[in-house]
Amino acid sequence: MTSPLHLVRHALPFTRYPYRGEGMACNLCGGTETLVVAETDRRLKRLRSVACTGCGLIRTDPMPNAAELDAYYASAYRAAYQFALGRRPPRHHLNRSRREAAFRADLLSPALRPGARVLDFGSGSGEFLAAARGRGCEATGIEPGRAYGAYARAEHGARVLDRLDDLAPGEAFDVVTVHHVLEHLRDPVDTLVRLAGQLAPGGVLYAAVPNMAATGKPPHERFHFAHVHGFVRETLDRAARRAGLVPHPAYRREDTTVVYRQADASDGPDLPTTGLAQDLAAALGTVRPGAYVASGAWLRPMVRRNAKAIRDTFAAR
Ligand SMILES: [Zn+2]
Repeated sequence: MTSPLHLVRHALPFTRYPYRGEGMACNLCGGTETLVVAETDRRLKRLRSVACTGCGLIRTDPMPNAAELDAYYASAYRAAYQFALGRRPPRHHLNRSRREAAFRADLLSPALRPGARVLDFGSGSGEFLAAARGRGCEATGIEPGRAYGAYARAEHGARVLDRLDDLAPGEAFDVVTVHHVLEHLRDPVDTLVRLAGQLAPGGVLYAAVPNMAATGKPPHERFHFAHVHGFVRETLDRAARRAGLVPHPAYRREDTTVVYRQADASDGPDLPTTGLAQDLAAALGTVRPGAYVASGAWLRPMVRRNAKAIRDTFAAR
C-alpha cells in the first residue's frame, strides 16, 4: 500500500527518490566502471545517472530493484496505468498513441504486408496493433499492464498476452516492434535478444527509445525515474548487435528509432564505442538545481509540456 508520505517523497524537488536500489554491472558490456552524467532529473529531483566507460550505456545508479520499480509504477503512475479516473486510458494518452502508431506503421510500411505476422512488445492501449490489422496483418501484443491489455482487447479486438512466455512454442513473426519500452527495463539487452529470437527468417525488428543525445532541451529533461537505461545511436546499435541485428538499409532511421534486420556473415564485428562515456558526461553535464531554478529556464519547458498535454487532450479523434 502506498502511503501519502511515499507519494510526497516521489514528488518533492531537490530530494532523493525513496528507494534503496542496488549496484549493477552494465547490461550491455558487463563493465563496472562509470562516469556520472547527471545528478538531477526532469522533476528537479536528485537522481544519479552514470555512463559505462566500457560502452557508453547510461543507467540509473544505484539501479532500483524490481520491487522498487513496481512500487513506483503502482504509485506515481497509478492514475495513468490503472485508469483510476475512468474505464478508458486518459484521452491525451490515446491521442498521442494514435499519432505514434501511425508514424510507426508508415515507417514500417514495406514490411506490413497483408498476412504479415506482427508482434508489439509493450502494446499499451493497442493503437499500433489496430494500425497493423488495418493493413491486413495478424497482430499480437504483449502488455503486462492489465488495464491497458483489457482495453486493447475490448476496443480493438486485438490478441494481447501478458508475457512473452505466453506465446505458443516456436511462434515466429515477420515484424517485431518495441516502442519506448527498453529504457524502462533493468535488462534491455536480454529482452532484445529474446525479441530477436521471435523473428522469422527475413523478419525486421523496430526499436525506438528516447535519444539521450537529443538537443533542444536542457539535459536534465532527458532523465526520468522510470527510465532506468539511456541510449544514444551507438549504444542502441550495439545492444541490437548483441541480439544479432544490424540497421536495415532499406528503412529510414531517426536517431534512436531504427528498423533492424538479422545480421549475416558480411556484417563484420561489433563497432567500438570507446570514449562515448566521456563525450556523454561532457554533453549532459550536471545541472545545479538551485542555479537552474533561479535562472527561470524551467518556465518555458513547463509551459510547453502542459500545452502539449492540453492539446493532446482536446485533439480531434
Ligand atoms: Zn557497458
